Order: sequence, then structure tokens, then C-alpha cells
Amino acid sequence: MSRDQGPRVGVLALQGDFREHGVTLKAIGAQPIFVRTPVELDLVEALIIPGGESTTIGKLATRFGLIDPLIERIEAGMPTWGTCAGMILLAKEVVGPEQPLLRCLDIVVERNAFGRQNDSFETDLDIEGLDEPFRAVFIRAPWVVKVGDGVEVLATVDGHPVMVEDRHLMATSFHPELTGDSRLHQRLVDLVE
Ligand code: GLN
Repeated sequence: MSRDQGPRVGVLALQGDFREHGVTLKAIGAQPIFVRTPVELDLVEALIIPGGESTTIGKLATRFGLIDPLIERIEAGMPTWGTCAGMILLAKEVVGPEQPLLRCLDIVVERNAFGRQNDSFETDLDIEGLDEPFRAVFIRAPWVVKVGDGVEVLATVDGHPVMVEDRHLMATSFHPELTGDSRLHQRLVDLVE
């Protein structure tokens, strides 16, 4: 596949708001590829795991034979970014009942952590490395309760980490694909060699 249309960035397209990521990727000159099969995964140079329902995405990934191929690519160094449910899927552990996870990022997360009062909200978030605040949309979002060695916390809300990075891995509790701000999509694309 040619790179004429920019770096090929996969968006796991099993459930959730993968289409919006596609729109933002196109806006920055990358080539979005919706990934539903191991063959499609082979085509991409980076991957976004979108928001949605992490239990549903995990079950579908299991059914579509994607869990092991995803782990293999991510562990081999493919730049990968999990947003919201995607952050949960990347995590090593989740508080509460077992669910299918990729366990590639050394964090423990708590689902729906902001509680019923704060179910969904928006805030101007300071993110390390960005000059201007980022308008962050949180929808039944997780937060990080524990980070392992080497995991860097780039943003917090009320002291709880909502953006972390570890080498080629990024995870955000919020939904950067909903606001038209492409700075974090660009950050992922910049990780592609
Ligand atoms: N609450 C969802 C979950 O636990 C995540 C919500 C989202 O991705 N917006 O999977």
C-alpha cells in the first residue's frame, strides 16, 4: 500500500467512535485505515483504539482473532494510542471484574471513575508538552489509579492521571476526536518513523 496519502494509521473499528478519529487523521494528512481483521492490522504503521464500551470491544476483538495479533504488533513497537475505552483495553489491569485486555501498558485503571455526578463533562486541560490547554471531553471516563515504572503522567484532573505515555504508547481518558483539535493525533503520527 502506498504512503502517498500519508502515514497509514489504523483505527480499531469494532465498536465506538472510530469514524471521528478517521476524520481527524485525514485533516492532518494521515491515511486512516479501519481495522477489523489481522490482515488489516498488518497494513498499518500506528494504531488508535477508540472510545466506546471496553467490554464490547474486548469481546469482539477476541471473536475476530485480534487479541494476539494486536499484542504482538504493540509489543514490537507500533505506536499505539488508546482513548477512553481504548485506554482501558491497553491497561495491564482494571479494577473490578475481569474483562479481555491487551495488558501492554503498565497502568491500573478504574472504569467510570468520575462517578454519576460527573458522568460526562468538558474541561480545558493542561497537558505537558502542549503550549495551549486542550479542550477535553470526558464521557463515562476511566482514570488511572496506578502507574508502573517508566510510565509518564502528562495530565491530571483533581490529582487523577488522565493522560499517560510510555515510549510508543499513549493513553487518554478523554475523547480528542470530538473537538477538532488534532494536536494529539499529530503526536501519534510523529511517533511513526
Ligand atoms: N465507560 C466505558 C468503559 O468502561 C468507556 C467510555 C468511553 O469510551 N467513552 O468501557
